[in-house]
Amino acid sequence: MRHLILILMLSACLLPAVSGTSLSAQNRQVVELKTVVIDAGHGGHDPGATYGKTYEKNITLSVAKRLGDLIKRSYPSVKVIYTRSDDSFVELYRRADIANKNNADLFISIHVNSVNDRSARGHETYVMGQDKNSDNFEICRTENSVIVLEDDYTSNYQGFDPDNPESYIIFSLLQNAHLEQSLDFATLVQKNADAGPIANNRGVKQANFIVLWKCTMPAVLIELGFISNPNDMKVLTDKNSQQRIATNIFKAFQAYKKSYDTDIYLPSSDAPAPAQQATGNFGIQILASPYLLPKDAKEFKGWNCRHIRSGKNYKYYVGQYSTREEALKALPGVRNSFPEAFIIKTDQ
Ligand SMILES: [Zn+2]
Repeated sequence: MRHLILILMLSACLLPAVSGTSLSAQNRQVVELKTVVIDAGHGGHDPGATYGKTYEKNITLSVAKRLGDLIKRSYPSVKVIYTRSDDSFVELYRRADIANKNNADLFISIHVNSVNDRSARGHETYVMGQDKNSDNFEICRTENSVIVLEDDYTSNYQGFDPDNPESYIIFSLLQNAHLEQSLDFATLVQKNADAGPIANNRGVKQANFIVLWKCTMPAVLIELGFISNPNDMKVLTDKNSQQRIATNIFKAFQAYKKSYDTDIYLPSSDAPAPAQQATGNFGIQILASPYLLPKDAKEFKGWNCRHIRSGKNYKYYVGQYSTREEALKALPGVRNSFPEAFIIKTDQ
């Protein structure tokens, strides 16, 4: 069921291709995925999960660099930025900062799992959000707890205590404008990881990872496999397998970029004005959230906003258009207020 919802959300999010007869009267604007930040989990005095002499930080760095190389080779125009490219310690908040300051279009954090139960195995991808599953909380708590290795962590994270479940209440106020796109990419990562070498698809999940919290773009955290499981560990530490894992993530990137990149046609001054009272089945999504927001929520920035239910989330959108072309004409105006806005079908 969850898969079905994700697939529906994925198809709803693909930006539309433009066709029509009035393109000559319009100006073309290209929207492209231009910058990706690849975040190798842990580093320096934070080894991450360990098993004997095997450290999470070394596996994540190797896969991150392999992924970056693949992207650079196929997309010379895409800027690939690493939060770390060697064995150095980088604070969690700084990792999101790097992505935000570089106006990244996508943030990919790479990690490896470890739990006491040695039979637990497989790959999973997280997006920021609330999930009631206690296993997720345990994994999330472990990844978040590395902030205690940072100087001055209480002031950098607003007093957040990774071990105290009550601390997580601050995330309930979060409005994740990039939830849907993050889910799209996470779904592609999981789908492509099915090619192996790590078996067992544990799915797309939501948890409150600090490293994703401050990112202002679609962002995912991939747990490649379990270092605590003998089979997974053998694969994770093998260079050829690391290359295959990186290639799978790269394929997800390729598919995501393909759906992300689009041309927008802006109306030129002599183009006919869009219909004022058009009613129809298209809208421009500005926000997705697991919470029902009031009509006058400040997140809507004064726009008259409607919503539809999609799985566990509410999609908030503005406008009502009978054709995609009409919605496309209105899109640039909406993007002045909501840069990540995109067109959705509202009668799905
Ligand atoms: Zn980790």
